[in-house]
Amino acid sequence: MIKLENVAKYYHNEGAVTLGLRKINLEFKLGEFVAVTGESGSGKSTLLNVISGIDSYEDGEMYIDGEETSYFDDADWEQYRRDAVGFIFQNYNLIDSYTVLKNVETALIIQGMPKKVRLQKAKAIIERVGLTNHLRHRASKLSGGEKQRLSIARALAKETKIIVADEPTGNLDSESSKQVLKLLKEVADGRLVVIVTHDFENVEPYVTRKIRLFDGEVVEDKKLRDYSLTSIPEKTIGKMSTIAKTFQIAIYNLLSQPKKTILLLLVAITTLFFVFINYGSKLVAQNMDHYGNGLYNSYPERLVVTRKNKAPLTTTDYDYFMSQSEITKVIIPDLVVDAQFHINFQIKDSYYYEDGFLNFNNDFAHQVVIGRLPQADNEIALAFNPYSIDENNLDKPLNAIYDISISTANGYFQMPYKLVGIYPTTDQSQFILSEGGITKLYDLMKISLKGYQFIVKDGGVEQNLPYGMISVNNSLSEHNIKISLYYKDILPGNLEQAEVSLNNVPVTITFDALTDHYNTIFVSPSFFQELKVDEDYQYTLNLKDKDQANKVINRLFDNGYYAFSPFLASKVIDFDAIFSVITNIFATLGVLFSVAVTFIISYLVVRSILLSKKKDYTILRIIGLKFQELKQVAVLEIITIFLGALLILSGIYITLIIGSYEIRNLVNKTFTFWNYFSLITLSLAVMILIAWRFTRMMTKKSLFMNLKVEGE
Ligand code: ADP
Ligand code: MG
Repeated sequence: MIKLENVAKYYHNEGAVTLGLRKINLEFKLGEFVAVTGESGSGKSTLLNVISGIDSYEDGEMYIDGEETSYFDDADWEQYRRDAVGFIFQNYNLIDSYTVLKNVETALIIQGMPKKVRLQKAKAIIERVGLTNHLRHRASKLSGGEKQRLSIARALAKETKIIVADEPTGNLDSESSKQVLKLLKEVADGRLVVIVTHDFENVEPYVTRKIRLFDGEVVEDKKLRDYSLTSIPEKTIGKMSTIAKTFQIAIYNLLSQPKKTILLLLVAITTLFFVFINYGSKLVAQNMDHYGNGLYNSYPERLVVTRKNKAPLTTTDYDYFMSQSEITKVIIPDLVVDAQFHINFQIKDSYYYEDGFLNFNNDFAHQVVIGRLPQADNEIALAFNPYSIDENNLDKPLNAIYDISISTANGYFQMPYKLVGIYPTTDQSQFILSEGGITKLYDLMKISLKGYQFIVKDGGVEQNLPYGMISVNNSLSEHNIKISLYYKDILPGNLEQAEVSLNNVPVTITFDALTDHYNTIFVSPSFFQELKVDEDYQYTLNLKDKDQANKVINRLFDNGYYAFSPFLASKVIDFDAIFSVITNIFATLGVLFSVAVTFIISYLVVRSILLSKKKDYTILRIIGLKFQELKQVAVLEIITIFLGALLILSGIYITLIIGSYEIRNLVNKTFTFWNYFSLITLSLAVMILIAWRFTRMMTKKSLFMNLKVEGE
């Protein structure tokens, strides 16, 4: 059945060539029980590895059932090992974490045996080798003799015509050795069993033939007794699909090593968590767009909205927002919503200091305490708690001009306003401007926030002036501007002689003390029209009901907008603080970079765990799992872990969002379905890639070498 003609095997090791076998001629027949003996290094193992297809040969020809094997490729050898050869090793090569039953079962799974048949068969074989008492014990818990009987059982499960055993009794005491040899003798009937031993005395009573090697050559080949062929084993053809096989093995692997599985699970959970946090922080950062984070005014019904693509908002957007039933008002001059007004005023002998935002919500028309609503651009009314005002002295402050200072995200203005009315409110103080007054203020803020170029050219030296606010002064004309003396102090050269330009328009400068306006550039009304910014990048939307915020945010997100609720954000204090720390860290690192780092770390951990499984994987291949199938096993293990992690994370997540309104808000406004989908797909792809790469790495070495490294 196996015939070797002038077969030679060399080992190439770092330039040196060692002879394993030299021109071996041998023939093995079914039913024989052959002992191969010889000194250490004589080539016994090499011979065994060659005939069992674990290792290759260089010269000559080996025939299997008359077929030449020199043209066999990897797949042919895989098939041969699976169908024809059962292996028994000196160091057993069992899957230690598997139970006795599973070790045998796995060999049957690889043969494609379905569960019912498999269990029956496995139990029968285990009975035959006398291990029924240990059915559910881990292989690692067995004694040496029991382990070797288990490996015989596993070889039997394959129902192969050839069984090879390399020093199977090398690690056993004499009693166990006898049992093992007796067992081998029993199973040899109808098979070819080749056993390597350096201790011929012990095996002599059992074997039918003796071959002695010396220095890679056959120096003795002697028939000792007749052999019978009474029971040639029938091979059962398995019916399991590849995926059913690999999935079953993957599950066995995961279940039999719970510690590694849990570790992998934790890595997967951490990776997913970080990827989401990372990506989430990026989304949150994007949400806080266009004019930065100067959202001071956080009344509950307010949403701030920008386009995802950062384009200016237009009337189309306005109409779209207005068409949403939850939205009652679209405030285009959104920046003004965040402007904080401060006023110092005096009524009779009482001094008041009030600050607050502009009012966009309430209608004060019928609640006046004194005066009226503003009509002209420079008129202002104040709504505050009026009960502290002495009613007898209410006339006095009206119609006086107040310098009202206005704080914005980028600095503050001082604007002269005429106070024309006072209104009652039980809320915080609020300021009321006319429509025109709002527009005017908005235009000023827009120019200042957009930034401008204020350049001084003096004798070829060009210099940017420091940043300030733009404001209008009616007494100026054309391209005359007025700035504080402060500029004179901080700039070198002679400003009166220098060429100065504002947004590339040459200007003439006058100086003023302007101590309260040291950073303001005053321009003429006509120049202001030239400088004006037309685009709006951010609107404020007023909701009918604050509880509709998330619904609207999500809908707008799906329609190309980022919407943000300053109120909800201010409510999630703790979580938001954590989030913003993470945002800062990861924004600094760069989102891509930190995602990469997360992946590299998880890659290393996953790889090291897979490496620790390498021995088991090699054993699986030796007992007949094809390489493609092994790849599937590794990938399926990873996918199972990953899905487990996803399930656990989802569980935590659902508990959190059911339990906490705030977290739900934060998460809802951050992630959409497609975010989830793409992140999960990406993470899964990376995991699979790791498993794939790892199994490919295993093929770089021959099976024999993998085993050798592991065996040591
Ligand atoms: P035995 O099993 O009889 O002790 P082997 O078949 O293991 O002997 O080895 C036969 C010869 O081949 C020895 O000289 C040994 O050093 C050499 N050899 C075996 N395996 C390798 C290897 N992987 N690389 C280099 N030389 C090897
Ligand atoms: Mg050897």
